[in-house]
This record gives sequence, structure tokens and C-alpha cells, in this order.
Amino acid sequence: MKLIESIEEMQSTAINARQAGKTVALVPTMGYLHAGHASLMDEGRKRADILVASIFVNPTQFGAGEDFNTYPRDLEKDKLIAKAAGVDYIFAPKASDMYPTGYQTYVNVEELTLPLCGASRPGHFRGVTTVVAKLFNIVMPHLALFGKKDFQQLTVIRRMAADLNMTVQILGMPIVRESDGLAMSSRNAYLSQAERQSALCLSLALQSVRGAFRSGERSVEALRKLALDIINAEAFAVIDYVEFYHEATLTEVEQVDDRTLVALAVKIGKTRLIDNCVLGED
Ligand code: AMP
Repeated sequence: MKLIESIEEMQSTAINARQAGKTVALVPTMGYLHAGHASLMDEGRKRADILVASIFVNPTQFGAGEDFNTYPRDLEKDKLIAKAAGVDYIFAPKASDMYPTGYQTYVNVEELTLPLCGASRPGHFRGVTTVVAKLFNIVMPHLALFGKKDFQQLTVIRRMAADLNMTVQILGMPIVRESDGLAMSSRNAYLSQAERQSALCLSLALQSVRGAFRSGERSVEALRKLALDIINAEAFAVIDYVEFYHEATLTEVEQVDDRTLVALAVKIGKTRLIDNCVLGED
């Protein structure tokens, strides 16, 4: 496994791989890798000749007052996890190379970025789509893998790739959870022991909604109340949103069905966590 920091070197490596007839898969990450990231890498390893994982804490997707400066970083540990997952190249550019002085070009997906995390984090998805578009131009992957943990992000990136006629195939991968149900996230490292316990309310709320859906409940209000009651019972939890949306259009539904996305964002102390499920999926 090789660490590449230079954009030019990554681009020439990708061009050479393509000229040699090899397929390239990319797993974009912000590092502080865990088993959720590794599951994307494992799948990429199976599907392509060359596997690239990018590690870049992207400043343009953090708002003022968000955790850009404190976001956890551990490149040495990341290298071990990436190597074990069969990554060929870690691409870890410098922010000053990705956004040099004079930089002024951004990619913006419109309607899909307005609700949910887009409403709470203005400018976030503009930063995400911009950096992902740049990574696609640098790594030139045939395939890029993203987690359904960030469901709206995956939807937005699919839209960008389709709208801008990008040839890369986008693959969405299931959420990897801790044994007690908490969705894995680099931000879980911020949680104190008591908060970690409290954070279970996200997955418990989703489980409860799923259970009621399976028993035949179709009312958004009844299902929302189940989720709200579980989350509001937690001392450290402050709800950002609990929404029932159509999974493809990200618009509100009146009655849930098996294509309904249940999306949660909850602050546990200072840590904002997200989780979701699509009711018709396992
Ligand atoms: P991040 O480093 O948080 O930007 O995440 C990089 C990629 O890993 C994104 O596509 C995430 O959706 C994905 N990811 C993060 N956590 C998980 C998880 N628990 N399960 C599956 N994918 C995940």
C-alpha cells in the first residue's frame, strides 16, 4: 500500500492504471477509520483491480462553529485499517493543494440538499459535492462506494453524477453498527461513557418504528411519536429532526410504505449523530 499526498501523482497513477486496462474503485473518507469504512473498502476490493481510499477532512463541508478543527485524526491507525482491507493507495491531499489561493469553483445540487442535514448545516452538501467531484477528477474511478449511514449524501452524490454525466458508478453500502446497534461513526469518539449509552436512542427509535411498521402501523404521526418518545426520554439528547421521507425524492410522505426513509439527527451533548433506515429494507 502506498500513501500519495500529491494530486498530480494520484492523477498520473490513475491514468496509468486506466491505460493498463485496470478498473479503479474509490472510497472517499475523512479518516479515523472504523469497520463501516472497512466494509466499503472490502466491497471495493472485490469489485476493482485498484482500490484507492481517500482521507481528507474537507474544510468546505464544515460550517462556522462546527468541528473541523477538533475532528478526530489518526493517519497511522488509518494506514493499518486500510492495509488490512487491501487498499492499494491512500490518497491524503493537503487542504492547501485542494483549495489553493484563488479557488472559487463549487458544485451544488439543488432541491435534494434543502431538507434534513442540508437545513441544519447550510453549505454542507455544497462542500461535499465539490470535494467528491474533485476526487472523481483526481482518482478517475470506475466505481465509488458510499455508506447509507449518510443517506442524503449518497442520494445527492448519485444526482450529481447523473446530472453532470459522470461515468463513475456509485454504489451505496449498508450501515455497519456496533453490537448494541449504534451506527459506527468517527464522531462516536467524542462521546463520554454516559453519552455513549444515551446515543443508543437513535437506533432504538429506528427499531421501534420498524417494529410498528411491520405490525401494520402506517401513520407518520403515530410512528414519529414512537421515535420522539424514545429519544426525548434521554437526558443528553436534543432532536434536530425525525423525518419520514420518500427515499428517492427526499420529500415528506403522508403515509409510510416500504420505500419510506426514516431519518434522524440528534445531538447527544455536543455531538451531532445521524442514523436512518428504509422501512422496506432489512
Ligand atoms: P466519513 O469518513 O464519515 O466521511 O465517511 C466516509 C464514508 O464512509 C461515507 O460514504 C460514509 O457514509 C461511510 N460510512 C461512515 N460510517 C459508516 C457506517 N457505520 N456504515 C457504513 N458506511 C459508513
